[in-house]
Amino acid sequence: MRILVTGGAGFIGSHLIDRLMADGHEVICVDNFYTGHKRNILKWFNHPYFELIRHDITEPIRLEADQIYHLACPASPVHYQYNPVKTIKTNVLGTMNMLGLAKRVKARILLASTSEVYGDPEVHPQTEDYRGNVNPIGIRSCYDEGKRVAETLAFDYHRQNGVDIRVARIFNTYGTRMLENDGRVVSNFIVQSLRGIPLTVYGDGSQTRSFCYVSDLVEGLIRLMNGEHIGPINLGNPDEYTILELAQKIQHMVNPEAEIIFKPLPEDDPKQRQPNITLAKTWLSWQPTVPLAEGLKLTVQDFRDRVTSN
Ligand code: NAD
Ligand code: UDP
Repeated sequence: MRILVTGGAGFIGSHLIDRLMADGHEVICVDNFYTGHKRNILKWFNHPYFELIRHDITEPIRLEADQIYHLACPASPVHYQYNPVKTIKTNVLGTMNMLGLAKRVKARILLASTSEVYGDPEVHPQTEDYRGNVNPIGIRSCYDEGKRVAETLAFDYHRQNGVDIRVARIFNTYGTRMLENDGRVVSNFIVQSLRGIPLTVYGDGSQTRSFCYVSDLVEGLIRLMNGEHIGPINLGNPDEYTILELAQKIQHMVNPEAEIIFKPLPEDDPKQRQPNITLAKTWLSWQPTVPLAEGLKLTVQDFRDRVTSN
């Protein structure tokens, strides 16, 4: 198949492309390199089945594809809050352009949505029928409301125009190739402990997250794309940790000498998050296989190579 991956030079997108190329597909990667990097996809540059297009998806583009994985959007709060207007344009105009493309060429399109659509959830763990507790005017809104509109667009194009959609609600995912300045918690703690500087826990560290290793997530995305169910469907690892526990784990693993310090909690920071993955288990026969300790080991190794070589 010819498969378009938007945001393919990013963290999850580049791992997805590795899988699609290994499976023998033709891949078109569209990216504007806002948070993505050529080095993530460098190994495919001379491959006859790989094509890279530098393009901003807020502008329309004419391409042909059988399937579209629509991942383009900065995912770390630091990056999506840097230019919030751009973030919401990417989610709304960008998703509209990709759904329009899917409609024109009759491609199946998978939207990479997020657990952030649940906001600061009052239901725990989160199931797909929970409608969320989201601040429409806060500093996270460009991203979480943006993704909620993206989901609305996907379902309206589906109902009105028969576009063949899949919607994944991705929970916190980590792994190799995250940027050193990504700003999300796993990469921050690893980079800080490797550099021997204090690990910055925001708030008192009692807020929780559940961390999925990237290879598990990619497997879930591929199963969703090629299965019969349109979603929305939660994809994430249900093992839940407080942020302080995570800091201590990484501290012990990388640098027991590194200090842990506390910084103010960002506005609207969700207090708890854990996916209920019953639907993914039943519909996709999918569940994560990489435990946190193993995934962290792989991620630490990847950062160690980069951070020490700098
Ligand atoms: P990332 O920032 O590494 O990748 C995003 C990619 O999209 C980058 O390569 C970036 O350059 C590109 N991009 C951004 N805006 C663009 C635009 N306007 N036009 C073209 N390309 C653009 O993030 P990631 O962690 O790989 O996330 C990928 C997708 O998965 C995002 O849609 C994100 O919302 C979703 N997601 C990720 C997580 C996670 O924990 N990583 C959780 C939930 C949802
Ligand atoms: N966090 C932290 N220290 C950091 C970065 C993040 O304590 O250096 C916290 C953040 O406040 C949040 C959790 O870790 O409670 C996860 O943050 P991240 O930005 O990784 O993802 P998200 O909030 O989008 O789930």
